[in-house]
Amino acid sequence: MCGIVGAVASRNVQNILLEGLHRLEYRGYDSAGMAVLSEEGRLNRVRALGKVGALEARLGDSPLKGRVGIAHTRWATHGAPTEANAHPHQSGDSLAVVHNGIIENYETLKRELQGQGYVFTSETDTEVVAHLLAREYTLSQDLLTAVQKSVALLDGAFALGVIHRAQPDVLIGARQGSPLVIGVGIDEHFLASDQLALLQVTDRFIYLKEGDLVRMTAEQVEIFEQGERLITSTNERPIQIFEHAQDAASKGDYRHFMLKEIHEQSRVLAATLEGRLNGDRVLVRSFGSEAETLFSQVKQVQIVACGTSYHAGMVARYWIERLAGIPAAVEVASEFRYRPVVVADGTLFVTLSQSGETADTLSALRYAQSLGGFLGSLAICNVPGSSLVRESDLSLMTMAGPEIGVASTKPSLPSWSA
Ligand code: GLU
Repeated sequence: MCGIVGAVASRNVQNILLEGLHRLEYRGYDSAGMAVLSEEGRLNRVRALGKVGALEARLGDSPLKGRVGIAHTRWATHGAPTEANAHPHQSGDSLAVVHNGIIENYETLKRELQGQGYVFTSETDTEVVAHLLAREYTLSQDLLTAVQKSVALLDGAFALGVIHRAQPDVLIGARQGSPLVIGVGIDEHFLASDQLALLQVTDRFIYLKEGDLVRMTAEQVEIFEQGERLITSTNERPIQIFEHAQDAASKGDYRHFMLKEIHEQSRVLAATLEGRLNGDRVLVRSFGSEAETLFSQVKQVQIVACGTSYHAGMVARYWIERLAGIPAAVEVASEFRYRPVVVADGTLFVTLSQSGETADTLSALRYAQSLGGFLGSLAICNVPGSSLVRESDLSLMTMAGPEIGVASTKPSLPSWSA
């Protein structure tokens, strides 16, 4: 679940999109890419493995010029982190799409599309969306209709941004289970998975609701509820001004940060689950591309953590045993790492840490890996690029944001809902 940025403007959008990607860096990513419609009517794309800086370097060599574009940072769920799997994905040289989330029925759709002659060049679920859109566009010759028809065929949690070279002044977005917000500028409009990506260009936002589809030009925004009903009243999707004072570094009306952060718990929990659920089911792939195989073999869980995270682990143990019906043990990392451990068959090693750099927890993970008997490791963590996340097989990122209060209040929340 990573980042989307889109823009339709009367100026060059490359640097707006790039800055947006930089602002989403805190969420972690494995690759990044951008597609822009040129003045000459071409669809140009640049992608790079690794950091946004790598994409920036490529754009330095071959800049993208144009007034409509989409960009993405990817956190792979389907297919390895490679340049070929990086977004935007295209069908031919006319249409490009960026996607956050998971398309659950992609295998069925892929077989159908391959049968119709569409050739796939990536391992992602996203490429199915690109070809589906191309097929529907061929039938209707209208991008909005193509998106409406395609989205109706998709099962899963996703947010999309779509452009087509035959409609060079249009940017379309769709939201279903994964966040998407519109940024309102002066004669320009933007799209992002997180408003933070757009604070450089606007502080006016329209928050899309589940099932919303949006068609934007530089001058106009049309929102379709459940993809169909055009919303005519601005009361239904009002423009809201973002108050900079609400950000993480300010206490707002709270007496201290600890209190503020406790009150943020419900919002953080909702943000963490967003894009990871389809109805009342958890999208297992959101833990990583190996998650389905690994989870199906789990017979028990060993949780290891320190401090507040350890206490969250104690709660998680009750929940896991009650809901999943498998044994769970929890141990303080500084004990675990120094004792001889007997590893039972089919044990998943789970670590919890706010920073992902907690020394004892990290050492415990390395010790567990050196023992060799664990099925695999899962890190529940707030910092995507941290050592714990990089060195674990699977990860679940919390959306706690920066925590100023000394006692951690949010990073281990997802374990409560596991
Ligand atoms: N499922 C898509 C992929 O693996 C999108 C992942 C994301 O949200 O970044 O490419």
